[in-house]
Amino acid sequence: MTPRRHYRQAIVLLAGIHGNETAPIELLNQLVSGLLAGVRPLAVRLLVVLGNLAAMHAGKRYIIHNDMNRLFAGPHCDFSHSEENLRAQQLEREVKRFFNPEAAERFHYDLHTVIRSSCLPRFALLPFQTRPYSGKMLAWLDAADLDALVMHNAPCSTFSYFSSKYFNAASCTLVLGKARPFGRNDLSQFATINHALQAMVNDEFLPGCSVSEMRVFRVA
Ligand SMILES: [Zn+2]
Repeated sequence: MTPRRHYRQAIVLLAGIHGNETAPIELLNQLVSGLLAGVRPLAVRLLVVLGNLAAMHAGKRYIIHNDMNRLFAGPHCDFSHSEENLRAQQLEREVKRFFNPEAAERFHYDLHTVIRSSCLPRFALLPFQTRPYSGKMLAWLDAADLDALVMHNAPCSTFSYFSSKYFNAASCTLVLGKARPFGRNDLSQFATINHALQAMVNDEFLPGCSVSEMRVFRVA
């Protein structure tokens, strides 16, 4: 989606790389519905992606590859030509097409939920990169009231690493609490992140509303 007026940011928003992580899919559904209905103005260029459609329909995390988020930025020929493998390659092509001619600042947010209980239920995983992390992205994560940041210390094969490495996008994987099956999520638990996503696509400034400070971890 491209706004009619001048925009400063090009943003990829993803959910459903793991098909049973339903709450972020419902959040993006609301977001897109609001934009299409004209309820809220679109002020950024936006690519919304639902990752693993077959797994979403089946209500499962995956169909073949137990982690589709390990099929990016690497030698795909290491894997069989499964649906998920082909889908990962298709998503890479679409993101490339979205970012390649783009002069605006680039962002990539990949939305997930926890699959096990976590002391800190809401956190962001930042891909390994040698350049500094985007201050704008870190400020947004803080305003979204996350509990923690986890920094990777080596290249990996996640989708967010792919966008960071090949397109210099400010990029992260977001883990947003626990999900239930479609239609049974309590989206009020996700109200802060929902508000932050709305502000993001409206290109509105979000004041740092963080109740508690984010804890920062580095993978050892
Ligand atoms: Zn996930």
